[in-house]
Amino acid sequence: MHELSIAHSILSIAERAVPAGSKVAVTAVSLQIGELSSIEIESLEFAFSAIRSGTLLEKAELNIEIIPGEAACSDCGTVFHMDSFGTCCPHCKSFLVKILKGKELKVLSIMVDE
Ligand SMILES: [Zn+2]
Repeated sequence: MHELSIAHSILSIAERAVPAGSKVAVTAVSLQIGELSSIEIESLEFAFSAIRSGTLLEKAELNIEIIPGEAACSDCGTVFHMDSFGTCCPHCKSFLVKILKGKELKVLSIMVDE
């Protein structure tokens, strides 16, 4: 279950962002997750809520922005929405495509409350 290791990474990124010894609580973590990253949002939220107790992120919400998958056809140049791997070009049916967007996994911001 790789959502659990991602949840751990989010936790450690957020904890490192807060100065050691400070008493702030993290209230929200904003993330960008690509549609093609093969991350299940529900599993990630579940894993995150399971591991955050007793940490600075005990009350933190995850604000998740989904980045739609986008690919460009290497044969005809059409740019199209790709919602899963193995999708061919809708124009010429070529499978020679280059993924432009949708594999992101980024922590954008961390909100704290003092
Ligand atoms: Zn094409």
